[in-house]
Amino acid sequence: MMMTGNDKQQAHDLAIALEQCASEPVHIPGSIQPHGCLLVFDEAHRHILQCSDNLHDIIGIRPSELLGASTLPQSALLTSLIECLNGLQTIESVQTRQLTLPSGTQEQSFHLSSWRCDTGRVVELQAISASPPSHWVDSLSHWSLQLESCNDQKTLLQVLTDAIRVLSRYDRVMVYRFDSDWNGQVISESRTADVDGYLGHHFPASDIPPQVRRLYYINPLRVIVDSQAEASPLLATPGSETPAPLDLSPGLLRGVSPIHQTYLQNMGVRASFSIALFSRGQLWGLVACHHGQHRPADPDSLLAANVLVRLASQRRELLQYEAQAEFFRRVLRNRRLLLQGNRQSSPQQLIEHHGKTWLQLFRACGGALIYEDQGLQSWQDTPDAPVIAEIIKQLQAKASRHIPWYSDCLEDSELSIDGSLNGHAGLLALPLVSARSSNSWLLFFRRELLQFHQWAGPPKDQPSYVDGKPVLTPRQSFSSWQQRVEGKSESWREVEIRAAQELAENLSTALTFHEINRLNNQLSKVNEQLQTMVRTDPLTGIWNRYYIQEELIRLTEAARRYNHPFSVIFFDIDRFKDFNDQHGHQAGDRVLRSISECLQSRLRSADILGRWGGEEFIIAAGNTEQTEAVQLAERVREAVAELDLGELGHVTISLGVTQWREDEDGTSVVNRADEAMYQAKAEGRNRVVVPADEA
Ligand code: GH3
Ligand code: MG
Ligand code: MG
Repeated sequence: MMMTGNDKQQAHDLAIALEQCASEPVHIPGSIQPHGCLLVFDEAHRHILQCSDNLHDIIGIRPSELLGASTLPQSALLTSLIECLNGLQTIESVQTRQLTLPSGTQEQSFHLSSWRCDTGRVVELQAISASPPSHWVDSLSHWSLQLESCNDQKTLLQVLTDAIRVLSRYDRVMVYRFDSDWNGQVISESRTADVDGYLGHHFPASDIPPQVRRLYYINPLRVIVDSQAEASPLLATPGSETPAPLDLSPGLLRGVSPIHQTYLQNMGVRASFSIALFSRGQLWGLVACHHGQHRPADPDSLLAANVLVRLASQRRELLQYEAQAEFFRRVLRNRRLLLQGNRQSSPQQLIEHHGKTWLQLFRACGGALIYEDQGLQSWQDTPDAPVIAEIIKQLQAKASRHIPWYSDCLEDSELSIDGSLNGHAGLLALPLVSARSSNSWLLFFRRELLQFHQWAGPPKDQPSYVDGKPVLTPRQSFSSWQQRVEGKSESWREVEIRAAQELAENLSTALTFHEINRLNNQLSKVNEQLQTMVRTDPLTGIWNRYYIQEELIRLTEAARRYNHPFSVIFFDIDRFKDFNDQHGHQAGDRVLRSISECLQSRLRSADILGRWGGEEFIIAAGNTEQTEAVQLAERVREAVAELDLGELGHVTISLGVTQWREDEDGTSVVNRADEAMYQAKAEGRNRVVVPADEA
C-alpha cells in the first residue's frame, strides 16, 4: 500500500506520541489517591520527611505539625504507629499489617503498607472497617476448590473472573491476554447484565505502555478507587531542599496518570483494579476489574483476589504442562513407530503410513518431503510443486540447517515467493539430516485463517496536537470496531516446533535406514549377477565347467558320506567341424544353444547339465546308478538326434556314461566318461557307450 505524505507525517507523529506516552514516569507521580494517606519517616522513625496533603482527612494530624518539626507532636496514634514500625523487619520488601490506632477518642482500624526508600521508610495508611470479615476465609476455600476442579483453561478463567467479581462486587472482571506485540485480547469475562461486554475484544499495546507493564513485576496489584477523585500531592519540609521524587511502585495508593484517568472516564469506569498474571516469571496478561461507581478500597478483597489469581495461575500452568505432556506423548508414539516399523520403508511409504497423523499432530493442512535426489513428494493440501520448489530453494539460501524455520505469514517473511501460495500462509520447515545431500526438508503448511478482530474502538492510535506537538490522547469511543486480518495462519506454538524438530530427527534416521537398505539390496543384486556370471556359460546359459567341477566335488562328498551313487554322462557333437565348415560358425553357435535349451527342459532338477568346453557337454546325474544313467543318456541322444534345426537339418552326439567308484574323485570319473565317449566315436558315433570294464 502506498503511503501518502500525510500518512507518513501522521505515522511519524504517532511514533513521537507513543514514545512520549511510554516515557511518562508513572512510578513517580508526586501524588497519591486521596482515599489513604502517606508518610515518609527517617531511618530512626523520629522525623517525618514527606507526607501527603490529605493527612488530616485520614489521621487527623496536619502536615504542618509534622514536616520540619524537631520533635514529633504528642499523639497516641503516632506513638502506636512508630511502635508498629519499630517492630517491622528492616528488609526491603513491602510489608502489610492490619492495625488499630487510637484516633481522637475512638479507635480506627487501618491497613498499613510499608517499604524502605532511600531516605527511610514509606508508610501508606487506609482506613478500613473494624475487623477483617471472616467470610473471606469461607469464600476463599470455596473458590479455591472450584478452581482446583477445572480441567481446561477456559473454564478455569471463567471461574476465576466469576470468583473475583463476587469477592469484589465490581461490575466487570476480565482476563486480558497479551499477544507477541503486547496488544491485549479479553479471553474471559464476568459482568453484570447492565454493563457492556468486552469478551473477544482487542486493545492496542499503547493502552498498557511498557513502563506500566514493568510496574507489574514490582507490584502485581494496581488499584484505582475513584478515577474522578483529585489526587493528593506529596509535601516536603517547607524551605528544605526538594527531595528526590518518591517511587510509589510498591504501594497501593500511587496517583493516577492524567492520561489513564481520561481513558477510564471515556470507558465509563470509575473504580478499577488489576492483578498481573505471570507464567514462569513472564507477564502474560492481567485480571482487569471495572466498576462504574466509586468503590472504597478494600485491601482484604484485593489480597483475597490475588490469592485466587495465584492459585489459578498455578492450575493453568499444570493444565498446560499436562496438555503439553500429552502432545509430546502422542508425537513420541509416532516417532517410535517410525523407527520400530519396517525399516525398509521408502519416503513414499513413510508418508502413506504417517503423513495424515503428522498433519493432525501439527494442525497442518498439508505436507511435503524432499529427500536427497528422490524428488518432491507432497500430500494433502499444499501449494503447487513449482512454488514448493521455490520455497525450498530459498530456505536453502536463507534458513539454518540446524533449527526449524517457521512463519505464520509467508507473504511477510524473509522468503520472497513469486508464485501463488494458494491461500497457504503458515509454514514450518524442518531440515532433515542426510549423508548425501544438504537439501532434505520436511515441510508442514497451514492455511490462511481469515480473522476478524473486534477492537475496543479503532485499533490504530491517532495522535492529537497540543500546542502543535503530537500527543496521545485516550480514545473517546470504546464501541466495537472490526478489523479483517488476512494472510496469517494460526501461529506455530513453541511446543509444536520443538516436537516437530524431534520428529524430523527420527524421520532422518528412518530415511537413512531405508537408504542403507536400498544400497544393500543393490549390492546383493550386483553380487548375484557376478555369481551367475562366474558359474554360467555365456553362450548357452547352462552351467560352465567351473561350476560342474564344484558340483562334482559336492556329489563325491555326498556319495562318500551317505553312500549315494552318482553318474556322469559326457557327450560331444559329431563331426561338428564339418558342420561349422558347411553352415558357418554362427549357425554352429545356434546349434549349441538349441541343444542346451532342449536338454535343459527335459532333465530332472537333480541332473546338472553343463558345457565342458567347445562342443563337449556333461551331465552330472545325482542319486543315479549306471543302468539308470545309460537310459537317461539314451533319451538324451534321441532328443538331440530328433531336434529339428530347420534348414540346418539335424546333428547327432556321442555319449560316454560312467558311475562313480568309491576310490575316485570327480576328475577321474569325468576322464573315464570322456574315454567312453571316444569309444562311442570309434564305434560309429550317435551312440551311448559304457567303459568295457563296467558293462
Ligand atoms: P568328432 O568330434 O565327431 O570327432 O568330429 P569333430 O569335427 O566334432 O571334431 P573335433 O571335436 O575335433 O572338433 C571340434 C570342433 O567343434 C572344432 C570347432 O570348429 C567346433 N567348435 C568348438 N567350439 C565351438 C564353438 O563354441 N562354436 C562353434 N560354432 N563351433 C565350435
Ligand atoms: Mg570335440
Ligand atoms: Mg565333435
